[in-house]
Amino acid sequence: MISFCSLASGSSGNSQYIGNKTTKILLDAGLSGKYIKAGLEGIGVDPNDLDGIVITHEHSDHIKGIGVLMRRYGVPIYATEGTWKGMSEKIGKIDSEKVNLIKNDEIFQIKDIQVKAYSVAHDANDPVGYTFENGTGKIGVITDLGHYTEEILTEIRSCDLVMLEANHDVEMLQMGSYPYYLKRRILSGVGHLSNEASGEIACDIVRNGKARNILLGHLSRENNFPDLAYETVKSIMESEGIKVGNDVMLDMTYRDKIGGLYVIK
Ligand SMILES: [Zn+2]
Ligand SMILES: [Zn+2]
Repeated sequence: MISFCSLASGSSGNSQYIGNKTTKILLDAGLSGKYIKAGLEGIGVDPNDLDGIVITHEHSDHIKGIGVLMRRYGVPIYATEGTWKGMSEKIGKIDSEKVNLIKNDEIFQIKDIQVKAYSVAHDANDPVGYTFENGTGKIGVITDLGHYTEEILTEIRSCDLVMLEANHDVEMLQMGSYPYYLKRRILSGVGHLSNEASGEIACDIVRNGKARNILLGHLSRENNFPDLAYETVKSIMESEGIKVGNDVMLDMTYRDKIGGLYVIK
């Protein structure tokens, strides 16, 4: 068994739980320690039982709660060297023995869950996406990337559940109030995936992969609406002949509340 729950996802904070009876992992901790504790307890997980926090990159919406969680619960973290360099001064005093440096494309084990880190294109030091796998299921999370590659698709085609970034609607972003440099950054190859790009990936992983659940995440507050993201991705999939709700389940994660608990048996 392996389960997944998004505690929150979006530009104001990201954290996802992946685990089972014996192994409990957090993917990023970009919210307050208090929020994460409450979220975990909401799904019956004691933060004292966390076995590790794996970190995608050093942006504050992914690391805000790391220092508190490490100090309060003694949780070890896993990050690439670049990510660690980018975050080490922002998280306060921590026990350096709890820091595990990993490499891109490395597979490592946290108790009985196998974790793989793979490179993504995003404007951070050495950002990665992750897959989590045990004997029964595989989960992949790809948010915070400007574009997708064949390598990334290969990683997530074998996942049973994929959480996928649907950051913005391109038109809303272009017409919106963000300053020009920020619009350029988001739209660039190292920014964030649009709803349309998310739809393309969703089509690929249904056609060529095995996912039964696709969850949309990391929605922009300014440049997207949950309904718009959902309908855009769904209509792209349906235009490719995919029956959403039948061939695959399409769900949302939320910017400031806990999402559904998915259990793969
Ligand atoms: Zn980021
Ligand atoms: Zn982010």
